[in-house]
Amino acid sequence: MKAPAVARLDIRPFDIPLNEPFAIAGGAKTEAKNILVRAELSDGTLGWGEGAPSINDGSREKLMPAAKKVFPKILGRPIASWRALLEDLDQALGPGTGPAKAAVGMALLDAWTRRLKIPLSTFFGGAQSRVYTDVTVTLAPPEASARSARRIIALGVKVIKIKVGGDMDQDEARVRAVHGAGKGLKLMLDANCGYSARQSLQFLARLKKRGITPVLFEQPAPKGDWRGLKDVLARGGVPVAADESVQGPKDMIAAAALKAVSVVNIKLMKSGFAEGLDIARIAKSAGIGLMIGGMVESPLAMGAGAHFAAGLGGFSFIDLDTPLWFSRNPMRGLLLGRGGLYDLAPVKAGIGVFPKPELLALFHRRGARA
Ligand SMILES: [Mg+2]
Repeated sequence: MKAPAVARLDIRPFDIPLNEPFAIAGGAKTEAKNILVRAELSDGTLGWGEGAPSINDGSREKLMPAAKKVFPKILGRPIASWRALLEDLDQALGPGTGPAKAAVGMALLDAWTRRLKIPLSTFFGGAQSRVYTDVTVTLAPPEASARSARRIIALGVKVIKIKVGGDMDQDEARVRAVHGAGKGLKLMLDANCGYSARQSLQFLARLKKRGITPVLFEQPAPKGDWRGLKDVLARGGVPVAADESVQGPKDMIAAAALKAVSVVNIKLMKSGFAEGLDIARIAKSAGIGLMIGGMVESPLAMGAGAHFAAGLGGFSFIDLDTPLWFSRNPMRGLLLGRGGLYDLAPVKAGIGVFPKPELLALFHRRGARA
């Protein structure tokens, strides 16, 4: 088979209001302001990619022109050399452009695996065809948190991630409210750099008094505070995940060398695909557990994350729930199902998620297929 070349790349912004604010320590989002990339191969195969800026520092206005500027480096090159394409893309885009790296890489890999007629998960190794996500309770008052928890339980989901890192009394009340909402729940905490290590240890002690032991504490110290993460891991009695602290492979090597965490939260929006693969490999070699997460993403990017985790295998924590926040689904295809299930088995090729006409129209091209 003669491998086609990358013939065309287009990028558009798209906005979808959220049902309720997605609030974390440091900020809240009421609307997803994401980017959509369309890749076309020389044989006409299309691929789609999505980028979602982070809540705290994402600026789409910078990402769009940055991505456009690197398109000429990719165009005309054979898609079979995908790894070299993605590495060149990462290099050209530079640091702080994760969502652009992810969106372009996603569109290229979607197109390539659609051309190969294999699901993206098979491309990444085919370890599994299903993953189950947790669902998040964001920073909200305890009563609203309990209501969210009951809604999550009604979806058949047993793993709830709770955002903390704000006012500790409020945080404790929120965690207790969620804990009390159902039996047999597994609770994960995410402080998003909002607590110092000392505060995180204090918080864990307060929860312990209430008989609550989380299954994971994500980012319980500020971004650069490796010693703090290590402290919480050593003295907190629960697994600790690095999220904000690990943006790329270099951070992952530091985390592994310092034995600072027991889990790493890999996000395509932080690292893109090539570096995401490197992070996973370093973590696995170092015996550090894998988690996949995302920003506020539609089923397209979350679906790509599900393929990535299922294909590589060995991910203990799956956090791909943000389609539930979208007031409408701009995509068709793969959906987050009951119990938090992403069932990839029916996907015949690529990610298996396609933009609906409202998004296709953004590309102003007659006869644009999906
Ligand atoms: Mg996190």
